[in-house]
Amino acid sequence: MLMFNNLIDGEWMSDGARSPNVNPSDTNDTVGEAVRGTRAQLDAAVSAAKAAFPAWSRATPQVRYEILKKASDEILARKDELGRLLSREEGKTLPEGIGEAARAGQIFAFFAGECLRMAGEKLPSVRPGIDVEITREALGVVGLITPWNFPIAIPAWKIAPALAYGNTVVIKPADLVPGSTWALVDILQRAGLPKGVLNLVIGRGSEVGAALLEHPDVAAVSFTGSVATGQKVAAACVASRPMKKFQLEMGGKNPLVILDDADLKVAVECAVNSAFFSTGQRCTAASRLIVTKGIHDKFVAALTERLSGLKVDDALKAGTDIGPVVDQNQLDQDLKYLSIGKDEGAKLVFGGERLKRDAPGFYLQPALFTEVTNKMRIAREEIFGPVASVIRVNDYAEALAAANDTEFGLSAGICTTSLKYASDFKRNAEAGMVMVNLPIAGVDYHVPFGGRKGSSYGPREQGKYAAEFYTTVKTAYTNP
Ligand code: NAD
Repeated sequence: MLMFNNLIDGEWMSDGARSPNVNPSDTNDTVGEAVRGTRAQLDAAVSAAKAAFPAWSRATPQVRYEILKKASDEILARKDELGRLLSREEGKTLPEGIGEAARAGQIFAFFAGECLRMAGEKLPSVRPGIDVEITREALGVVGLITPWNFPIAIPAWKIAPALAYGNTVVIKPADLVPGSTWALVDILQRAGLPKGVLNLVIGRGSEVGAALLEHPDVAAVSFTGSVATGQKVAAACVASRPMKKFQLEMGGKNPLVILDDADLKVAVECAVNSAFFSTGQRCTAASRLIVTKGIHDKFVAALTERLSGLKVDDALKAGTDIGPVVDQNQLDQDLKYLSIGKDEGAKLVFGGERLKRDAPGFYLQPALFTEVTNKMRIAREEIFGPVASVIRVNDYAEALAAANDTEFGLSAGICTTSLKYASDFKRNAEAGMVMVNLPIAGVDYHVPFGGRKGSSYGPREQGKYAAEFYTTVKTAYTNP
């Protein structure tokens, strides 16, 4: 049995209550037991991070580079094993789990390099004889709060820049999937991080998360999760004395536009991948398929046929295309929206059935609605499951208007062979990330990630843009 303990000031702490981490593919399988951290442990973690900050923020780029690179090497060497743990606790398929673990390794390699690329500016002053220097400095103790759906990649894309730019960290992962973050923290600690630089406190959001937000020694909070929690994070960061810097990555209701001139095969693959892979549990998932009328029927027929060939089964089984939903709560939410959709007059043309497999798990057939209008709740609210809606429109102009008619703005995509429409969509889609003839859920790790409108708040994550959040700029004047 794996024991997912807290890491505080370089020590693994096993004391306190524990809760089981259950495999959603087989609820008889307990992946491990996680400690339930307390406010007192959170306070101890912040104190340790505060004490470690002066030395870590002044550590040479070489020191930081070597630790992050070593961690990256170990993650990549162990990606199969880490991916298996991830898929077992979260339910995405094994290839998806291994891919996510490898992504964590790539992220650490990128930010290891960033340690060596920290730069400033030196410019002449507008006053004679004075020098001006602009440098970036670490913020202090950074609190990281992460969701359950990317249990190793999201912690990686927050921890890596936080450490690379000289901050110390307290991370609170989602209590549903503590194992992958625990494994990542273990790797980093053994890679040589001085004690207190990285602290892990597993526990409930309402207890450990809330305590992190209230703590006066936490300078900044990077949060990924739902809009409802994000708003609490923002309110708490503003109310805290001193106020905290914060960054929020939240939900989506992402559109994938399919135009009459699209390559049908490309459009179907983009839709299947974006809407249903990872069980639709991606913030960047395409939940609105906005399709022009000339291709609508052909697209729905081809997509339905493709869906009927997908295997929904145990995440670890070879050949599984779609794993289970993460837990009973999420499954209840998916089923609730399936009945809301039917009540609203949408037509369920495929799936939506609970499935039985060899072991008891949260299996749900991917579901496709047609005859959906963009005003329906299933087109406006984030479902976060394998449920997609087809919205029929007359032309490109209507498609663009529908795509943008949402409170969210994370990712958006278009399938078309027209350069004119592709260019127009890239320019006018109200989203942080836009994809042309590509699944809208997959992103690179060396470029900015994030959205606009109700999906995100604050600077982007990932790539060199991560420095905007994890550092503060200092302007120094010298009269030599
Ligand atoms: P959630 O908001 O329920 O939880 C996120 C984290 O916040 C968890 O660690 C949780 O324990 C913590 N938390 C809960 N209440 C808290 C409180 N009062 N104070 C402090 N922390 C608290 O989200 P979830 O269900 O884990 O994740 C799914 C959501 O995450 C979806 O809305 C999805 O779109 C979003 N998401 C967004 C992105 C993105 O980059 N935009 C990426 C992945 C997931």
